[in-house]
Amino acid sequence: MTDTTFLPPLIAAIQAEILNNEEEISALDRAIGDGDHVTNLIRGLEALSKLNDELVQLDWSAAFMKIGMTLMSTMGGASGSLLGSMFVSMGKEAKEQDIDLAGITAIYAAGVESIKARGKADIGEKTMLDTLIPVMQSLQSDAEQNSDKATVLANIKAAATQGMQSTKDMLATKGRASFLGERARGHIDAGARTSQLILCVIADQLS
Ligand code: ADP
Ligand code: MG
Ligand code: MG
Repeated sequence: MTDTTFLPPLIAAIQAEILNNEEEISALDRAIGDGDHVTNLIRGLEALSKLNDELVQLDWSAAFMKIGMTLMSTMGGASGSLLGSMFVSMGKEAKEQDIDLAGITAIYAAGVESIKARGKADIGEKTMLDTLIPVMQSLQSDAEQNSDKATVLANIKAAATQGMQSTKDMLATKGRASFLGERARGHIDAGARTSQLILCVIADQLS
């Protein structure tokens, strides 16, 4: 993963994975939200796929910024503004970092922190953060230990999957699901599921 030519095939792989799981994701957001999460995400990915020629001309910082602005202006929903702000923050941090394990960890952490700040949420509130934060922690620990690539990628997938599954039994305190109280229990959060699917595709594309 040396330059942004990595992005067009990655975006296509993520689109395929989300479309493959469209029905399931739609049902998750219908159960405890308003049902539109997968449509919002598909719209955002569609817009990103139209940027391919432009993205490969940009460095990582500018590419992340472009992705963030595009998600913000096309996706809609809580997830659109949260993911948009994540990528804009990653773009800012990428200016200061090398694209190695330590740098990627710092860039990703800046993105996660911006979702926490914008959504006023943290781990344990039944949102996408329950997938995103464990992956940040696994990256930080692997960066400290200088783990090999295969270990880093396996840990990303494990952390994302455990985090996504952890939302099932949670009560929601943020987003639409928070209006449901106890009725939200027993359902996986849609944003946690799509974040996990996306992170697993990224890990697979890097392997
Ligand atoms: P909307 O809820 O506006 O219809 P989406 O359906 O696209 O937007 O996205 C819903 C997802 O956004 C939820 O499943 C949850 O993961 C995430 N989410 C909602 N509110 C927050 C928040 N305050 N912090 C973090 N993530 C949130
Ligand atoms: Mg929704
Ligand atoms: Mg909505």
